[in-house]
Amino acid sequence: MGIIKKLHPHEAHKIAAGEVIERPVHALKELIENSIDAKTDRIDIVAEEGGKSLLSITDTGCGIAPEDLPLAIARHATSKICSIDDLAALHTHGFRGEALASIAAVSKLTIISRQQGNPEGATIHAHGESISETTPCAAPVGTTIRVEHIFEQIPVRRAFLKSTESELRLLTQLIIPYALLHPTISFSFIHQGRTIFEYPRVTDLKERYAQVMGSGLAQAGIALERTIGDIAISGYCIRPIHHRRDRNSIIVAVNNRPVKSSRLIGAITRGYAQHLEQGSFPIACIHLQVPPHTIDVNVHPRKEDILFLDPRAIEESIMYTVRNLLAAERTAEARPTAPLHYQEPSMSYDGLNRAAEPLRAYSQAHPAFMPKDVQEYGSIPEVSGVEEASQTKIMLPDAPDYRIIGQYATTYIMLEGRDGLMLIDQHAAHERILYEKFRGRQDEMAPTALLFPEQLPLSPHEIALVWSYQDIFEQVSIILDQMGPQTLIARTTPVMYKGRVQDLVLELLDGLKTERTVPQQLKEQLLHRVCAMMACKAAVKAGDPLSLSEMHTLVEKLYKTENFETCPHGRPTQWGMQLADIERAFKRR
Ligand code: ADP
Ligand code: MG
Repeated sequence: MGIIKKLHPHEAHKIAAGEVIERPVHALKELIENSIDAKTDRIDIVAEEGGKSLLSITDTGCGIAPEDLPLAIARHATSKICSIDDLAALHTHGFRGEALASIAAVSKLTIISRQQGNPEGATIHAHGESISETTPCAAPVGTTIRVEHIFEQIPVRRAFLKSTESELRLLTQLIIPYALLHPTISFSFIHQGRTIFEYPRVTDLKERYAQVMGSGLAQAGIALERTIGDIAISGYCIRPIHHRRDRNSIIVAVNNRPVKSSRLIGAITRGYAQHLEQGSFPIACIHLQVPPHTIDVNVHPRKEDILFLDPRAIEESIMYTVRNLLAAERTAEARPTAPLHYQEPSMSYDGLNRAAEPLRAYSQAHPAFMPKDVQEYGSIPEVSGVEEASQTKIMLPDAPDYRIIGQYATTYIMLEGRDGLMLIDQHAAHERILYEKFRGRQDEMAPTALLFPEQLPLSPHEIALVWSYQDIFEQVSIILDQMGPQTLIARTTPVMYKGRVQDLVLELLDGLKTERTVPQQLKEQLLHRVCAMMACKAAVKAGDPLSLSEMHTLVEKLYKTENFETCPHGRPTQWGMQLADIERAFKRR
């Protein structure tokens, strides 16, 4: 007997809708895009429980005619295209005419709308398959859409929703890129009665960055405007001294449509590559304008990605544009502390890996380079008794047998080892030493009440994130209070972090945003971050001249640490070459 049955249209519709709208943030994306398509100049969003019980969005756009209201929630009904051929010249976000229908299929949807010139507005309700009559009502010009109790009728979907905090974070992370891409639209977001942010309309991206991320960061940006063939690239790139641990602050839009293209994000990151450590990502907002016929916008169910006819040309244009922008800026500034003589490595990544081989071989062959002892150290480099001019080999009981040749490029300490040449990165080495020293002082995580609470100027976006993780901050001895719209105050902080709590909070937010932090591991992870950060700040920098005795102390202390091969961020502290390899290079072997 046959077993295949046709699903009832309601059921089929709910299932199809669930493929596009899996959580509140997906509904909000569609609603924001509809408001932008309606040419609004303000978008006010209200949510309850991370959007699970309510999402409401109000715009001042063109509105919907009363007779169009039933059509707006009908499937495949759109005012934006007439046929598939229109996609080749698309200027709107929407085109499929199914977002409102999909949202209505999985929630209780209400639309209230009034067009300019109409004396009154009209409203319609939809809940699953039942759609109300359209009724007149008083309303301002524009549209309000309310989405209530999403997935209440579909328990399997509801079970997949995350906690209120997580859904709220997704909503915030969704709205920010639209706010950056549309500075001339005012955005506000209220969650459970608390204003998460309010960005009045401004004229350009720099001012919007100042609203979203604080004026300090906005000042560190460089405006970008470039045309390469028929590709126009514009935007704002924040100088690499400000960076993040995740890719979420890289925003890309193609023909005004935000896209989550890992290839384009990768191209921007590569543009910054010379200025950022591995694992750090830039803060940038890049707009691309390309001829509509060179892209396909209809490749992703939620229209989050697009396809390019010639993706490599686009990626290279972005990568070089960003790289040149930063290089030009760097030359203009020529900061004295920047490492001198920077040259791009001429080797490919594979080449670099191969070049590191001799080091591994060297360390394995010379256990003397891996001292086991861990001791308590005093503070940093100052030894007496090492003559500046000393060029004799220094023998230490637990450390390798080496001679310091000197400092290379005011960044690396050159050593002659037992049978090889070593370069030690002075900053990475000092970071490792300080890190282990700080880690030895565990009690420093205890809370200390601050007599004068420390003020933290943070952006509204950051403040919103802090509140969603308040309990986690308290667990690690940071008690915060709101002081003004862009200011928090810290009443207690960990002892070791007195006076620098703002950096700590920003760093923690970076980790929490990516959800890498599991509460049980929090203390350990926090301790690691705090110690690594403090070590990084206090350590000598690339470009700092060191005396022979300072170099000597640094090397000696490095080899007494437990994990001397890497800095706390995982970069190598040393790199070397065996004499045998050098001899082979000179054809002596
Ligand atoms: P699409 O955006 O693909 O056309 P939607 O289901 O999102 O499909 O919306 C259906 C139609 O409803 C739109 O084409 C538009 O005419 C109308 N509409 C939806 N939201 C708004 C809004 N905020 N302001 C004005 N018109 C709207
Ligand atoms: Mg739409």
